[in-house]
Amino acid sequence: MSGQEHIEGTGPVTSYAIGGRAYKIIEHEHDVVIVGAGGAGLRAAVGCAQAGLRAACITKVFPTRSHTVAAQGGIAAALGNMGPDDWRWHMFDTVKGSDWLGDQDAIEYLVREAPRAIIELEHWGTPFSRTEEGRIYQRAFGGMTTDFGKGPPAQRTCAAADRTGHAMLHAMYGQALRNKAEFYIEYFALDLIMDDDGVCRGVVALSMEDGCIHRFRAHAVILATGGYNRVYFSCTSAHICTGDGTAMVMRARLPVQDMEFVQFHPTGIYGAGILITEGVRGEGGYLTNALGERFMERYAPHAKDLASRDVVSRAMMIEIREGRGVGKNHDHIYLHLDHLGEEVIRERLPGIAESARIFAGVDVTKEPIPVIPTAHYNMGGIPTNYRAEVICPREGDPDAIVPGLFACGEAACASVHGANRLGSNSLTDLVVFGKAAANRAAETITAGAPHKPLPKDAGLAILERIDQLRHKPGGTRTSKLRIALQRAMQEDCAVFRTGETLAEGRQRVEDVWRGLEDIAIADTSLIWNTDLIEALELENLVLNAVATIHSAEARTESRGAHAREDYPERDDENWMKHSLAFVDGEKRAVRLDYRPVHTWTLTDDIEFIPPQKRVY
Ligand SMILES: Cc1cc2nc3c(=O)[nH]c(=O)nc-3n(C[C@H](O)[C@H](O)[C@H](O)COP(=O)(O)OP(=O)(O)OC[C@H]3O[C@@H](n4cnc5c(N)ncnc54)[C@H](O)[C@@H]3O)c2cc1C
Repeated sequence: MSGQEHIEGTGPVTSYAIGGRAYKIIEHEHDVVIVGAGGAGLRAAVGCAQAGLRAACITKVFPTRSHTVAAQGGIAAALGNMGPDDWRWHMFDTVKGSDWLGDQDAIEYLVREAPRAIIELEHWGTPFSRTEEGRIYQRAFGGMTTDFGKGPPAQRTCAAADRTGHAMLHAMYGQALRNKAEFYIEYFALDLIMDDDGVCRGVVALSMEDGCIHRFRAHAVILATGGYNRVYFSCTSAHICTGDGTAMVMRARLPVQDMEFVQFHPTGIYGAGILITEGVRGEGGYLTNALGERFMERYAPHAKDLASRDVVSRAMMIEIREGRGVGKNHDHIYLHLDHLGEEVIRERLPGIAESARIFAGVDVTKEPIPVIPTAHYNMGGIPTNYRAEVICPREGDPDAIVPGLFACGEAACASVHGANRLGSNSLTDLVVFGKAAANRAAETITAGAPHKPLPKDAGLAILERIDQLRHKPGGTRTSKLRIALQRAMQEDCAVFRTGETLAEGRQRVEDVWRGLEDIAIADTSLIWNTDLIEALELENLVLNAVATIHSAEARTESRGAHAREDYPERDDENWMKHSLAFVDGEKRAVRLDYRPVHTWTLTDDIEFIPPQKRVY
């Protein structure tokens, strides 16, 4: 360290010399720092600010550009606006959808809080679609049923046409500003500051505009950084979904949970990967093969096209594999909505009609959309309890809490989705657990309490990492390594898996991991250095891919989205447990561990739902 000064309008500035080069670290103090301004981060920010905490929200893109903005179909809650419904039915469906890997106390919390969360969003100005009577419109979605799976499909998914995430995100950003949450926009969070007692004390971020490093001290950090689907070649998620938060947790020597469970959405547009919402099938759309057959009737006689996503994706892949795919190469499936009529399409699915026209050249009122299962959602992530507190098991306590650290949204694993998420349960998860994190932070933190001194030179190692990366004399471009990673994951760790493909995929992923040593950054400046940011994101992607493929190879059963052809049955005796992966990026080593699934509920209002065979 070579001295401290003050720059007007910011905190104190500390100067460092690393590798003979000068760096400045700008200091900040907040009660709470939230990383991420998608649905989960914004809901947490609003809650913290409302509770009187000084809350900072750090985000690498403008808040309303977060991936939540792309969410189409809707948000689940048992409001019962369009027919009978009950939170217990929602709970049953979610537990069954999770293939009994979800924690039932957290699931009870999710479904019971959901209706309140929707009303709150409505009061904040979310423009939900309406029924004739003026109530919030609700559509059918896969796996959502009535009467504990015995009744007809439930209409449980609240929608703002097919732009629900867009509507929610804008309403919440407005509320965050109104409540005076502070935003650090286009700041890239690099790493957590952990002290010697394992307490999280803040986060270090890079301002992308000017390359300054900022050190944020906080009594709590809430990670809401979203998913990591960009480890796949074809995915519905935005380019920014690179698992930065999960990677930060791994670098802090904490585990990630259930990473082998990756959801493939049945209907990504063939070739482009752009999502066509399940809401299309909720409105009556259906799938056909090359024979024009509605094949889902064979795989899920009861729920048909509205079976759970893992079930539909597998059925489509089997049809293609057995030669009944459509198109010149028989490698995709058709999704029909032409029979729905122009009015329904215009009112309920306008965005879909536009996406199909732009990305598939299809007029949905006349022709089917070519679709293929596409990587969509990460059930795994940072393990938390139902209060969104991050967990790291200790001897004798599988649920031990990491003080000062919270996670919510797709980055987290509460675990409400278990081995397979039901469509429209993620948006619910964002607002319910974003709020839970804020509530718990408000309970445990005194606004304005003084900060303890940071460990000496906290964050310096991060600065060294950046400096080394910027000046590596390597010869491999980030894009080359990234595509190798994405192809390996797509080919060897997708809808169907075997021990053989996973072992091969692991080798390929580890080749990329080693390849990071030789990465070349062409741009050595610090001003809007997208080359550097992409390299940092690739490092994060690699850690996520490593955790995913190692956990997948170890799990010798089929459950939810993890379909092992060599182990086709679910094995509750040995595998009804959460996987934990500890990934050491420096030593390039992985250690797996496990923790029990919560087989208890939160209250006596509902009993534990015991495992059953999962048929739709
Ligand atoms: C196309 C599509 C449609 C979907 N439709 C639905 C739907 O209809 N219903 C449903 O329930 N679910 C849907 N999902 C899933 C759901 O939208 C996502 O799971 C959810 O939006 C994730 O929200 P999030 O707040 O966790 O993260 P995101 O919305 O992904 O936001 C992540 C935030 O973290 C920030 N961030 C990340 N890394 C860093 C870093 N290093 N530094 C600083 N900031 C960082 C980003 O800037 C961003 O603000 C859909 C998903 C996709 C891809």
